[in-house]
Amino acid sequence: MAKRKKKNRKRKTSKSGRNRTPISGHKHIGGQLRPPFATAMDAMDGKIQLSSWMNDRLPEMLWAALIIASVDRDHALGQFRRILNFIKEHEQKELFHDLTHTGISELDKTLRTELIRFIVEPPEASLALCALRLFDDLPGREEWDQELPLLKPNVDLLMDAVGNTLWHQTQEATDCRWVRVMAKIISGKMLFPKKMKEIVNECFKYPNEGDQNSVQPIIRAAEMAFDASKPPDLTWPKAFWEAAWANTPCIVLQQRHSQPSIDKTVTVTRQAISELCDRLEEHWVQTHLTTAIDPKHDAIFGMAFYCLRILDEMIGIGIGTSILGRLGLRTILEVRINLKYLLIKDSDTLWKKWREYGAGQAKLNALKFDDSIDPPKHIDVESIEHIAGEDMWEEYLTVNLASWSDLDLRRLSERSGLKDTYDKHYSWTSGYSHGMWGPIRESCYQTCGNPLHRLHRYPERRILQDTVDDAAMLVDEIIQHLDEAYPTFEWHLLAKANT
Ligand SMILES: [Zn+2]
Repeated sequence: MAKRKKKNRKRKTSKSGRNRTPISGHKHIGGQLRPPFATAMDAMDGKIQLSSWMNDRLPEMLWAALIIASVDRDHALGQFRRILNFIKEHEQKELFHDLTHTGISELDKTLRTELIRFIVEPPEASLALCALRLFDDLPGREEWDQELPLLKPNVDLLMDAVGNTLWHQTQEATDCRWVRVMAKIISGKMLFPKKMKEIVNECFKYPNEGDQNSVQPIIRAAEMAFDASKPPDLTWPKAFWEAAWANTPCIVLQQRHSQPSIDKTVTVTRQAISELCDRLEEHWVQTHLTTAIDPKHDAIFGMAFYCLRILDEMIGIGIGTSILGRLGLRTILEVRINLKYLLIKDSDTLWKKWREYGAGQAKLNALKFDDSIDPPKHIDVESIEHIAGEDMWEEYLTVNLASWSDLDLRRLSERSGLKDTYDKHYSWTSGYSHGMWGPIRESCYQTCGNPLHRLHRYPERRILQDTVDDAAMLVDEIIQHLDEAYPTFEWHLLAKANT
């Protein structure tokens, strides 16, 4: 057991370089993959409240974020130490344990004024903190207003302050969280066991001495813990984000990775597809040996022609980079896996089963439209009636309501040695096919660049990465199968495009 544990710890670095739990580190429970943090939360049985730094706590430390954004870091931390010394020396220091805006507003008026006056005393702090005037609902607004100079609030500084601290682990956010924690410690509100004395000392020395890599997570964990046991008053955080949204505009971000690169030209051309289709029709003639029903020949050539037609449609301007391009890719993938499975089995019964499933679907539709349902505009009832009865009298044709093979596509891919291809293409394109949130988010929304809007999304019709090359690669693999089943056909799309 010990050996296995050791082996598990030696995990490979992810390609992205991100320090995160890989799929293998998740617990497979029922139909879910649960990450370690979620399972730990389950064990707490709702005793811990999850509070968000960005949504709930950043607005409470806005004064600190503004100071950090207004001067260099040493200077800002110097101002924080000055405030902490004020608390330390104060005869009622235990009352100054909460440096959040709400906490400050809950001090009695004299102490509140005294603290705010002390915070805004340095000229650069008073300049920066004028931005607080933008918020009518700021807790303790009257005292801030009274102590701040009558200068125009600096909205750009406010954006910088919030932008630098949105992500809870930035240096700026950690500095804000540090001053909050230190006020708790200095005022005597937060007590640590004796054995943690060294850690507390390290926190005091922050950020100049000691092992800051270990101190920073402790500061963040301690700061997060304040709100863990009882829900905090969220009146101000909510008012802050509402006012920021109401009073400042959305900002369009410069596109970075999501925009397809202009010089990445698609290598497949419509002419290449057309030539391949012509050659394939010639090859069909050469290999078509009987006018009797030949499910295998019809299936293999039909699958190839069908996928070439999809690819040809995907070449149309703007389709490869569209949602429809993904639906095309998803279908080509399914055909590729079905074909490989059929070829591996290569059984007359199975070729027939695949074909009969399709005919059964035509029959089912024909029956529905023959009953109470009116056919939609795109359905040619005569055409599906013909397919339903083409091979045999439909009274003999069973309709299969499950999948054609009684296996789902994942299992088919496993049995065909195509699990890697399935993993590569299936899940995300399927999300597009089903209209799930991830693909909707990717294709129809953009992230707003205004930090005061906390990374919300606004509607934008986004151009997606091109799907044509991936689809062409799968089509080439289908053609290769055709060549193996009915030699010799040596034409390929990508090889042809590259010559
Ligand atoms: Zn916005």
